[in-house]
Amino acid sequence: MPESVEIPPFTAVPEAKPADASSPLESPKSQFSKHILVNSNALQLTTYPGLNGVDPVPLQWGAADAKSRGPIVVSRNSSQLKRRNAMGAHGGSYSIYNALAIAAGDLPKDFKPDFRNTEPTFQFPQQPAWSDRMKIVSLDPFGHDIIKNFKEYLDVGWDLRPTMAVTRANMRLAEIEKAVSEGKLEVDGSVIVGKNGDVKVTKVAVEPVWYLPGVAERFGVDEGTLRRMLFEHTGGSYPELITRPDLKVFLPPIGGLTVYIFGPPERVADENVKLALRIHDECNGSDVFQSDICTCRPYLAFGVQEAIKEAQNGGSGVVIYFRKEGRALGEVVKYLVYNARKRGGDTADKYFERTENIAGVRDMRFQALMPDILHWLGIKKIDRMLSMSNMKHDAIVAQGIKIIERIPIPEEMIPQDSRVEIDAKINAGYFTTGKKYTTEELAQVKGRGWEKWEDVTH
Ligand SMILES: [Zn+2]
Repeated sequence: MPESVEIPPFTAVPEAKPADASSPLESPKSQFSKHILVNSNALQLTTYPGLNGVDPVPLQWGAADAKSRGPIVVSRNSSQLKRRNAMGAHGGSYSIYNALAIAAGDLPKDFKPDFRNTEPTFQFPQQPAWSDRMKIVSLDPFGHDIIKNFKEYLDVGWDLRPTMAVTRANMRLAEIEKAVSEGKLEVDGSVIVGKNGDVKVTKVAVEPVWYLPGVAERFGVDEGTLRRMLFEHTGGSYPELITRPDLKVFLPPIGGLTVYIFGPPERVADENVKLALRIHDECNGSDVFQSDICTCRPYLAFGVQEAIKEAQNGGSGVVIYFRKEGRALGEVVKYLVYNARKRGGDTADKYFERTENIAGVRDMRFQALMPDILHWLGIKKIDRMLSMSNMKHDAIVAQGIKIIERIPIPEEMIPQDSRVEIDAKINAGYFTTGKKYTTEELAQVKGRGWEKWEDVTH
């Protein structure tokens, strides 16, 4: 770590003078027009590398430590606009709510958070991957500890925000409570702490921070194409993707992920103990509301149960929850697919075709960036991989992380109506130790129809 790091000077640019306070009798419409006018005078749509005063704070992705890497500076406030070294905004998809809060006057636009006592509850040791510019490309490996790493910046007024947070909590799942009451899981006082199935867990929330050359490389596309598509297909929201090729970091407006660690977090990176791990992609309808059309909640509960068992056996258990609802197609598309399936005769041989007809692809989750969090945690091998997905498996193995055993969801946990999904996936290459259906047989795997529903409503 360098002895000292020079903090770039912070030059506060005076705020534009607000217009005269509106008369309380003025109509909301005229207040609104005046407001737009005042703001538009100072509005800078984009910046260019040679523009007067543009001088990004040095950011060297993949540097040996946080201080030599440099802070992620993304705020567009007037004193930082020309010193930014990243595009996008903090908060992932919630950046829009932040903008709304400022527009509504609930949040001052120059608000600076007070980070006292927000530090991580567990100090994850720095892993070699944190300073490998191509191993971690979709999160900021130092994003959990900005108070320690960039205190000098915060102290003189820079607006920097953590993009990760580490906490600890209790968790209670009905399936775990049931397993405890049936004697299948033991109350050991350390991982499971109560008869009602209360589980101790360490949690890490992560917002996406993309290093664009690394993301482009993972997808096998050139950076220019990636930037152009991100610009075009977000309604032109981030013009600096085009005008600032010198800025390589982008905080996209998408959901992040949460890591749930069972057992002592220091064991996660320990190659001498066993690790059970599930990578789970969000499915709100099943995960929370227990729809029976898919295997998401049962597999998640099974993953948690096996992770707990491994931790109780002296190993470690990890479940990572990605906000990629409905294969990253969203719930609207997902429900349209449900309708097309149920109205068209819901058979497993047509399962993927129905999604492709509506979304153009069968899956938009692209697991290529998923292994970043495994690198961050220092995971080098997974003893028990609680997933049948070939895409997840291949992405992890492609990153040099070994998978020793793959564990499919137990047959008895598969809801009847979800056979269409699971059998179609197995036929398409998902891992199984059970039966693999032929295409002809898949046509016989039928989901529940809607007939009874429609009878009731008519
Ligand atoms: Zn699901």
